[in-house]
Amino acid sequence: MFAAGLIILIFGLFLDFVLLPFGFAFTVAGIIIMVLSFFLKPAETPEPSKPGHKFCWFCLNEIPVDAERCPVCLMRQK
Ligand SMILES: [Zn+2]
Repeated sequence: MFAAGLIILIFGLFLDFVLLPFGFAFTVAGIIIMVLSFFLKPAETPEPSKPGHKFCWFCLNEIPVDAERCPVCLMRQK
């Protein structure tokens, strides 16, 4: 999310540079998004409830960290 804010900020600075009217709005939006990205936690990567467990990449069930195949969906783990 920080990168998205940075891209918008650079885009806003570019618009400021070429004197287009919306440049300032994009610059402010980019700064706001970058600041928010420090306070908002990423929505993904939840923690497994049991220690020594991870989420299956395919079905997202909790499985042991060292499992080669998911016991639920039998998909090979990377
Ligand atoms: Zn699975």
